[in-house]
Amino acid sequence: MRLLYSNENRLIVANFRNIVESAGIEVTLKNEFAAGGMGGLPPLEVWPELWVVNDADYERAKTLIESSLGAKSTVPWRCTNCGEDNDPSFEACWKCGHEPESLCNRARHKKNHR
Ligand SMILES: [Zn+2]
Repeated sequence: MRLLYSNENRLIVANFRNIVESAGIEVTLKNEFAAGGMGGLPPLEVWPELWVVNDADYERAKTLIESSLGAKSTVPWRCTNCGEDNDPSFEACWKCGHEPESLCNRARHKKNHR
């Protein structure tokens, strides 16, 4: 068994589990409900972890995760407030803290569908 992915956001980990499982890869989730339940441990220590059950599936699962991560944003975005170019992994402008329009739109889009 190998650790595939871990994130403090349980929903993101669960989302990746769905993606990998739908590809026919057996995975298991650890620490899924650990948040706040592990006395004394800081939250960082109990992030939900996604494990691949069969080591042979690890590389394929990793590729699925990476392509899913990469699909989100691959190009730098330009801050509409100060005009600075930002790395796609930044959720807000590193210079002025302004959030890009695309992220705002995405959040709004989600709400409309709930
Ligand atoms: Zn800016």
